[in-house]
Amino acid sequence: MPVMQPRALWQAVLGELELEVARPSYETFLRDTAGTACESNRLIVMTPSPFVAEYLQQKLYPLVRRTVERVAKEPLDVRFQVAPNGPNGNGPINGVAHPQASQPSSAAGPSMLPLNQRYTFETFVVGRSNQFAHAAAVAAADFPGQKYNPVFIYSGVGLGKTHLLHAIAHRVMARGLSVIYASAEQFTNEFVASIREGRVPEFNARFTGADVLLMDDVFIFSGKEQTQEKFFHIFNELHQSGKQIVLASDRTPAELTSLIARLRSRFGMGLIGDIQTPDLETRLAILRSKADQQRVTVPDDVLMVLARKVQRSVRDLEGNLNRVLALAELTGAPITKALAIQALESLDARRERSSVTPPALVNIVASHYSLSPEALRGPSRQKKLALGRHVAMMLLHQELGVTLSEIGRMFGGRDHSTVDHACKKVESLANSDTSLRADLVTLREALQRPLD
Ligand code: ADP
Ligand code: MG
Repeated sequence: MPVMQPRALWQAVLGELELEVARPSYETFLRDTAGTACESNRLIVMTPSPFVAEYLQQKLYPLVRRTVERVAKEPLDVRFQVAPNGPNGNGPINGVAHPQASQPSSAAGPSMLPLNQRYTFETFVVGRSNQFAHAAAVAAADFPGQKYNPVFIYSGVGLGKTHLLHAIAHRVMARGLSVIYASAEQFTNEFVASIREGRVPEFNARFTGADVLLMDDVFIFSGKEQTQEKFFHIFNELHQSGKQIVLASDRTPAELTSLIARLRSRFGMGLIGDIQTPDLETRLAILRSKADQQRVTVPDDVLMVLARKVQRSVRDLEGNLNRVLALAELTGAPITKALAIQALESLDARRERSSVTPPALVNIVASHYSLSPEALRGPSRQKKLALGRHVAMMLLHQELGVTLSEIGRMFGGRDHSTVDHACKKVESLANSDTSLRADLVTLREALQRPLD
């Protein structure tokens, strides 16, 4: 068969992998990758960071390779490479990550921000669910530092926070103002590096020199006190000089309990705009706009099938649309309701996931670390046991919403503050410990898989 374009091939492979891999892993490791080239029987896949490349190589390579060969219908190896600016400039976007970013922001210009060109106000569909956050973002872009400061946007995953931040960046840059867009993770890494390299003053200058600071995924600051202190000072300096700050998070400021209190209260002092899940009408409008952007005509009844199906996340909505389009392209079939139903069927089978009970979660964690559940719940402070125990506590709290006191009771009558401490410890360790982070991904994935 003729060799497929690497980009289309990898898109189709991603469609398959989305079914095979649990959602948190997919979101973390696969979503922001791109197929960029086919060289001597090898597909080159760009990843946004070395961590992602390493994880894919170590944990998912066999599955990825099998899937690639199945889709391509020919033997094809896969190689993961780190893209300098994220894959096709769409990946995690960090002005600070770019080599040029070591210059002051005013000198570096817009080119240092590989923003997603498609994430603009024009392509953002406004509906009841997001009109408030949208209005707040527009106000921040049109009247930086003058109306609401900071603007804090929060929502569940895949509902448009990053899209809005990029939209602000595009609009503000078009007026010649300087912008820094970074994720909290990037801020943290840069800060740590600047200490190591004795460049803290440059780091300060870069962040305090921006007219508008856009900080994505601020929950990642959790547990890193020194970084939070630094951000607190930068925040204050910008705020006092009337510079606009916009933050995005998947939790409200009040819910960011592992942030230092001073920072949390700063986050909440401007305007807080949330994004709810979109209603049917908005979902239809979003799908129509995404299809238009790809210049394909999708019949209304197909859009309706898609809009009815997914309710929680726009990202999933888009993923399903792409799945249908990929199936049409691969099979050469017209885009019909029947095709859409076929494309989504296998998805349904996978998505029917059993919900895990708290004791089952403890068993899963115990077996992951080759420990017995009894030992995990018991009193021993042996290092390996303690880690497994803390991880189990954190997952019970975060993933199943079990209260801290209830967890304390499950683990032999421990105090709720002990449990709280354990949860925070795991979160902060995971920030620096790659293998723990991989453990958590694997475990979260196990929690979503049906117990078969
Ligand atoms: P978040 O940062 O909240 O996890 P993103 O901003 O990454 O979500 O959005 C996920 C996807 O959904 C992106 O492709 C984005 O363009 C799209 N999206 C979300 N909301 C809208 C909207 N209202 N209109 C158009 N596209 C949207
Ligand atoms: Mg985001």
